[in-house]
Amino acid sequence: MNDLRKKVQIKELISAERNKNFEEVVIGYSEEEAVSESQRCLNCKNPMCVKGCPVNVPIPDFIEKIKERKFNEAYKIIKTENFLPAVCGRVCPQEKQCEGNCIRNKTGDSVSIGKLERFVSDYYSVNEENTAEKNNKKIAVIGSGPAGITCAGELAVKGYEVTVFEALHIPGGVLSYGIPEFRLPKKIVENEIDKIKNLGVKIITNVIIGKSMTIDDLLYDGYDSVFIGSGAGLPRIMGIPGENLKEIYYANEFLTRVNLMKAYKKDSETPIKIGKTVTVIGGGNVAVDSARTAKRLGAEKVFIVYRREEIPAREEEIIHAREEGIEFILLTSPVKFIGENGFVKAVEMVKTKLLESEKSGKKDFCEIEGSNYLFETDTVIIAAGQTSNPIISSVTPGLKIYGNGKIFADSETNQTSIKKVYAGGDAVTGAATVISAMEAGKKAALAIDKYFKNEPETV
Ligand code: FAD
Ligand code: SF4
Repeated sequence: MNDLRKKVQIKELISAERNKNFEEVVIGYSEEEAVSESQRCLNCKNPMCVKGCPVNVPIPDFIEKIKERKFNEAYKIIKTENFLPAVCGRVCPQEKQCEGNCIRNKTGDSVSIGKLERFVSDYYSVNEENTAEKNNKKIAVIGSGPAGITCAGELAVKGYEVTVFEALHIPGGVLSYGIPEFRLPKKIVENEIDKIKNLGVKIITNVIIGKSMTIDDLLYDGYDSVFIGSGAGLPRIMGIPGENLKEIYYANEFLTRVNLMKAYKKDSETPIKIGKTVTVIGGGNVAVDSARTAKRLGAEKVFIVYRREEIPAREEEIIHAREEGIEFILLTSPVKFIGENGFVKAVEMVKTKLLESEKSGKKDFCEIEGSNYLFETDTVIIAAGQTSNPIISSVTPGLKIYGNGKIFADSETNQTSIKKVYAGGDAVTGAATVISAMEAGKKAALAIDKYFKNEPETV
């Protein structure tokens, strides 16, 4: 019978209007739609969806509760493993994780696990209390992105006194300053952060660890352990001529100006100028978000230029971007920015082709000799990757780093090269995903707890 039921499709704002405003694009399920979609779940004995979820949310169990219309119970089940379900329901690459593993893919569409997660998270409005007995251990968490917030929440419910130090004036990390309102409304992030604060977690903003105080200061001041979740906020410089011309932005700066500093408002003190034609370099979520934001700020033509063929951004966002009029130029790479009076006016591009051999899961590519051409543009946004900021590592003796300034952490415990100092998320892996940062925060919290429960052989 289940096989005959059709997937409940998501609803979206009408394309023609939505690329002119910052309202959330995807409209969540109604109660009836959520129940109907939940009935497509087969409650598998060996649920592959759970195996695809980095934090192992008991997916069929929470979906069963939706079938029974016990939405609050469904939420509580998700919350046992995931501290940011309203965020994950919106931004996780479900097609590569839980939904990508759902058995229903074999005969049609997977169950819309992400949309169901979002539904119960938006439905739940109870303020939880933390009933854990205090254990008199103090933990400092650096950074309030998904890694730091998850680590803080996990430790708080285990009885630890947790203080989060955040460099910016608003907590949330990329969830607040990076992912735009039309994908992840700020009130959703605020609600999730409020729930963490309700657990007793203290968040202190405007403190840059490494400048205002160091990790040594924190340990000296009585913190028993430190978790570093400082992210990868430093843009990767492409290193091609003309990169410092005016009207060339790095995506992080561009999105921060728009999201956090409200540059899209006419009376905002933070300026942002968008030309008629905007060229975005890169193919990840950051590039797609930048392009869709530029369109909403009034750009007439927006192009995404990517050197490979398969765009790594979330599937849903690519579809939405196309619907909103964003054009993709694939197998193309910029080699030079050309200016006039100090302002960018064109990009010299070169065509690329993929090579047969595969390295690290991605196909290699090379430039096609003689295929260069000029592409006129008024604004460029570079979204070609980010790396960790060296502020912390440069003033923390003994903190081992690797690769492009990433912090080394043990893959099992997330302990760094310094005892009682842990790290996780983008600061350790380089730019990745919300859920992988959460997984790292959770792992570190479990390792910290194990350490203080006197099981030092595991750390
Ligand atoms: P962050 O979220 O970067 O948080 C780090 C925090 O630490 C920041 O608030 C920063 O201000 C603070 N900090 C840094 N240094 C210090 C210091 N010295 N002292 C105090 N505080 C400090 N992932 C997805 O899964 N799905 C998506 O759709 C998606 N879209 C994205 C869109 C954009 C525009 C961007 C930029 C990223 C996107 N990602 C997405 C990636 C995802 O957001 C990140 O992988 C994730 O946020 C990493 O979490 P984190 O906690 O490690 O770091
Ligand atoms: Fe339900 Fe799909 Fe998970 Fe099976 S794999 S339990 S059908 S969501």
